[in-house]
Amino acid sequence: MFLTFEEFQTNLVHVQKRIWEACRVAGRDPDSVGLLPVTKTHPPEAAEYVARAGLPAVGENRVQEARDKQAAAGCTGLRWELIGHLQSNKAKLAAAVFQRVQSVDGAKLLGVLARAAEERGAVLPILVQVNAGADPAKFGCELQEASGLIESALRAPSLRLDGLMTIAPLSDDPAVAERTFANLRELRDRMATQFGVPLTELSMGMSGDLDAAIRAGSTQVRVGTALFGRR
Ligand SMILES: *Cc1c(COP(=O)(O)O)cnc(C)c1O
Repeated sequence: MFLTFEEFQTNLVHVQKRIWEACRVAGRDPDSVGLLPVTKTHPPEAAEYVARAGLPAVGENRVQEARDKQAAAGCTGLRWELIGHLQSNKAKLAAAVFQRVQSVDGAKLLGVLARAAEERGAVLPILVQVNAGADPAKFGCELQEASGLIESALRAPSLRLDGLMTIAPLSDDPAVAERTFANLRELRDRMATQFGVPLTELSMGMSGDLDAAIRAGSTQVRVGTALFGRR
């Protein structure tokens, strides 16, 4: 059985306390870290809970699943963000379903998304996903390719590049995630200087490593398990 709204609220308080504590340790303003609840594989109620709790957005990793949930969930006003790998042939639908795409990881996808947004007469907010932990099991452009992709994103009038996203490799060693997050932060700082744009959003940190991500400068943690239980 899916958790109740009260159970969700209890989990939410725990997650918020972790965010505040990590901000305190890092000397950061807690308002500088957003929480993106990840509702993938959970029923539409998950998105309804998020809206009821007054949070602004949810993350989903599949286009069709998000679309079905939007139709089923009785909640308007939520923003939906794509955090999973996107194939170019689904980019057009993704541009219609999501208010931001965090998983832009290649030139071809970037081009198709830019055209899809242009056809809609809209500007689509995006993040460039970087494989900042050089993990063969993860999507995302390689650190060395990021500069070219970021430049292309900044040149596309129908796209708005908000910043960067990464997923740390699975590891028992906390230093692996710490290094990954530091890599993304350093890349962002370099790119911001190189291109003269802020690239404000650093989407990094999940249930298991959000504390380390916040210490490294995350501005958005994407949290599923700690809010909704195991998938
Ligand atoms: C599933 C997922 C999350 C949430 O992971 P949890 O460990 O359940 O918090 C975050 N980011 C991405 C890209 C995901 O696919």
